[in-house]
Amino acid sequence: MLDMRPNCECCDRDVSPEDSTVLICSFECTWCADCAATFREGRCPNCGGDLTRRPTRTPAKQLGAPVSTIRVHNPNCLSSR
Ligand SMILES: [Zn+2]
Ligand SMILES: [Zn+2]
Repeated sequence: MLDMRPNCECCDRDVSPEDSTVLICSFECTWCADCAATFREGRCPNCGGDLTRRPTRTPAKQLGAPVSTIRVHNPNCLSSR
């Protein structure tokens, strides 16, 4: 099962599960706000889908359900802008 990703797929920066500015698409491609602001029409550069604000997970809940440690990085996101 997919879980919250620990980083922005475009610039590979760490994103916090408590950061309400992080954006995801329906496939849970994960993007920081800075990268998402540069995407054409504000759409996911991987799948072309709508981006929506990622729901946050509180620190208390992270204790029982830690976020994923699998980093997904796709530098090609830059070429699809
Ligand atoms: Zn980014
Ligand atoms: Zn996507």
